[in-house]
Amino acid sequence: MNSIDIQNKDGKYIANTYKRFPVTLTEGCGAIAKDPEGKEYIDFTSGIGVNCLGYADKGWADAVSEQAHKLQHTSNLYSTQPDVEVAEKLCEYTGFSKVFFGNSGAEANEGAVKVARKYGMEKHGSQCNTIISLNNSFHGRTITTLSATGQDVFHQFFFPFTEGFRFVDAGDIEGLKKAVDDTVCGIMIELIQGEGGVVPVDSEFVKEIAHICEEKDLVFVVDEIQTGVSRTGTFFCYEQFGVHPDVVTMAKGIGGGLPMGAVLMNEKTSGVLGFGQHGSTFGGNPVACAGAKYVLDHVMDETFLKAVNEKSAYMIEKLNAMPQIKSVTGLGLMLGAELPEDMTAGEVAAKCAEKGLLVLTAKTKLRFLPPLTIGKEEIDRGMVILAEVLRG
Ligand SMILES: *Cc1c(COP(=O)(O)O)cnc(C)c1O
Repeated sequence: MNSIDIQNKDGKYIANTYKRFPVTLTEGCGAIAKDPEGKEYIDFTSGIGVNCLGYADKGWADAVSEQAHKLQHTSNLYSTQPDVEVAEKLCEYTGFSKVFFGNSGAEANEGAVKVARKYGMEKHGSQCNTIISLNNSFHGRTITTLSATGQDVFHQFFFPFTEGFRFVDAGDIEGLKKAVDDTVCGIMIELIQGEGGVVPVDSEFVKEIAHICEEKDLVFVVDEIQTGVSRTGTFFCYEQFGVHPDVVTMAKGIGGGLPMGAVLMNEKTSGVLGFGQHGSTFGGNPVACAGAKYVLDHVMDETFLKAVNEKSAYMIEKLNAMPQIKSVTGLGLMLGAELPEDMTAGEVAAKCAEKGLLVLTAKTKLRFLPPLTIGKEEIDRGMVILAEVLRG
């Protein structure tokens, strides 16, 4: 099928939930994707921060296919080596005690909400089940994670939403203090609000959250679904904020392109969920975990992280040199660029795609989440296209 055939069938048979670009992708290599006609696209998206090692990384694809040939799935009634290896690697590297594996970001956040609520109920009583999250946050698309998301556009149509969420503005320490009462069991935040416009949260505010959670015995949850897996130049973004969350959620990059999510729990929270209290048929799938093990073996590495930070500095420099870009936000290879008022991010992204560059948007900004393995030459090629589009 050619691009048009595929797009026509897509329009006819796939639910209308995505506003797609007129782009069809069939294969890729590193930071370059191709359509059925052979047109190349420089990829500054990595599938929204998922393909952290780029398209079709040879070692990753071998690890995944070897596992598929051996054992593609079993139930969570039995142990398997790949998920044990990934869990061990995550715990040993980060200092967390235990991991629960799921299949997506929203599912990881659902797990974190369960941990915070059960912890609150057991430690402080059955009234203790409110979770505070931030205005302008994004935590997922299930009914509960939509409820946890602090943007009113997400609180439509699907009533009744899950009760027990309360929002404060990022940076508003006084507002936060007022919001904490004896019904609150946890505080859940992103450190850089990704979908909210690549907005970093103030580090003093984050430290204050950690302090309040410690003092009041609340569960401090950090959603690292977009920021984790070395995306921001450290394995987890919280390392750069000088805090130690009780629960961290991850997904997107961890499987290197296969669906996977994880909830990491520290000593305080790792015993909260007991037999039969949580589960997932596909969670810890051996093929996804074989991919994740390969990813972690590569991204949990000083030299790798150093390269991510160098490429980040290079991209920021290139973006700042474009007169139309008003500011650049973000960390590592999670960057946002503010555009002039007469340009909409969606239009710029569409023009970039036409010329062979894939970029994301977040609110009014352009958003860049290239594969962590992107080369300088590929960055240059992408930046030439972006500069051309911005010049108009
Ligand atoms: C993408 C994202 C999610 C949701 O992940 P899914 O895998 O789409 O369910 C949740 N939180 C943050 C911060 C995200 O970026």
